[in-house]
Amino acid sequence: MLIKRLGLFFILYCMTTHSWSAALLKDIRMATQNNQVRMVLDLDSNVNNRIFTLEKPYRMVIDLQNTKLSPSIETKDLQNNLIRNVRFGKGGKGALRVVIDLEEAVKFEHFSIPGNRTKNSRIVLDITRINGASIASKNPISQKMSRDIKIVIDPGHGGKDPGAIGPNGTWESVVVLAVSKRLVERINKTQDMRAYLTRSGDSFVPLRDRMEIARERKADLFVSIHADALDNNPRVRGASIYTLSDKGAVDEASKRLAKRENENFSIGDVSLSGKNDSFASLMMDLSQGATNEASMEVGEFVLKELASIGTVRKKKVQQSGLLVLKSPDVPSILIETTYISNPDEEKKLKDKGFQDKLAVAILRGIRNYFLVNPPQGTKFAKNLLNKSKTINYTVRRGDTLSEIADLYNINLSMLQSFNQIKGSTIRIGQTLRIPLYQ
Ligand SMILES: [Zn+2]
Repeated sequence: MLIKRLGLFFILYCMTTHSWSAALLKDIRMATQNNQVRMVLDLDSNVNNRIFTLEKPYRMVIDLQNTKLSPSIETKDLQNNLIRNVRFGKGGKGALRVVIDLEEAVKFEHFSIPGNRTKNSRIVLDITRINGASIASKNPISQKMSRDIKIVIDPGHGGKDPGAIGPNGTWESVVVLAVSKRLVERINKTQDMRAYLTRSGDSFVPLRDRMEIARERKADLFVSIHADALDNNPRVRGASIYTLSDKGAVDEASKRLAKRENENFSIGDVSLSGKNDSFASLMMDLSQGATNEASMEVGEFVLKELASIGTVRKKKVQQSGLLVLKSPDVPSILIETTYISNPDEEKKLKDKGFQDKLAVAILRGIRNYFLVNPPQGTKFAKNLLNKSKTINYTVRRGDTLSEIADLYNINLSMLQSFNQIKGSTIRIGQTLRIPLYQ
């Protein structure tokens, strides 16, 4: 009896640990090219897998050990004239079974990419038609309908709120609008991104409305552009980037900043100003996890680019209680381009060449972020899957090989072998090829 009970206890214990540590299949993505389909399975942790094909009818089976299925997975777009259907079932020993129903026999190759703190684990499956015929979508319209990445650019302040004023009388609201317009122009020149402004003239837009514009557009990213000021030290200069902080993790400096950048909230929107706290905490509760993490990541990419064109005041992305960033479902960053309180920087901010430099750097950072996080259903993601399996990276001062590998979420040895580099020496200006398995 005692032994039996122990046995039962042991089984229960195993089952519990089992479900605690189960991995999650979060998404399945697909792209086609000629006679090949690439399918990517996104998982929240690395799992053992077994992949094989069966006949009568033709199908491919992927058994994922100790894995659960995310309820949000959609498979209706995973169809073409080779793939009939994707469905799920139970494999042996608690595995999740993904079944791909096929029209005919195929060849396949697969590999896994381990995840890390910020990136999913992925299993990549290349399925090739043996007879060589090309693969066409069952629904050609849905292929054409892949959308642009949508970015809302928010020039800070405006109208009755000039923001910070430089020692020679330059208004923050004016120069950040100029930078924002240049950025929007450049974004719209790309074939796969579309930008929208929260204000296009010198008008006052309450902070809440700025966030709402991003949410209504279902933006993939919200970027607020500002210039900083420090009254008692005119020599301070350089860029900083802020994302929304988790509750309580606001340092003193960002509290001061939050006060200043949030000020027009009480000037402009009286009805809301009294509700500031509860509104903020409601948004805070909604805004968790994924969005904040994405905001941090995009902030890091943009900061790196800003560092390459000038001084960076804070080397890490800062977190703050800024209201304009409190959008629960849109990754949001606030860029303090530099200090308008520094007379030299004030002059630069008015200079068209410098404004353009800022716009280019911000755009480059944004694109680098999307290269490793392509939003589903976008042209950007499709192009990445279909066309360019590599991108070129030019080595800059201060880069290390392991940092570059980290940036693109590939392991160091893969990067080395891909570029036929032994050791870790790289030189400034060297072009590295970065394999992209997105
Ligand atoms: Zn500002």
